[in-house]
Amino acid sequence: MKWPLSQKMETSLLICIIHKCEQITMYCADHSQLCCCKCVELNHRLCVQVTPLPQAAGGKSTNFKNLSVSTENTLSQLKQCQTYQEDRIKSLKVSYKEHERLIVDGDARVNIVSYLRECETSTVNTTHKT
Ligand SMILES: [Zn+2]
Ligand SMILES: [Zn+2]
Repeated sequence: MKWPLSQKMETSLLICIIHKCEQITMYCADHSQLCCCKCVELNHRLCVQVTPLPQAAGGKSTNFKNLSVSTENTLSQLKQCQTYQEDRIKSLKVSYKEHERLIVDGDARVNIVSYLRECETSTVNTTHKT
């Protein structure tokens, strides 16, 4: 609402520094850089976190406050996603190791059953002692 810069300044802020005739339409979180489509093509092809700026692309008056909020939201979503993926990988690794161990041990079912029996027996024994 209280944009301190003139319309001209605002427009020039949305123009790519390298490609003077290109408007900034993307934000690369990998480089923390605003970029135009040419920049993306040239320098950010392999970047994972390139997000389009809907406000800039629409050519409307850009509200940088909203922009930063939406960028933060995207970032926190990405972080959440990353944490989720890491957790998944961790649990996958654990279950893989478990399976691997059971396979190495031979007949997994028999082992589990005998293990459970052992547990049961020791629990019963402990209960009886105490
Ligand atoms: Zn550019
Ligand atoms: Zn990049």
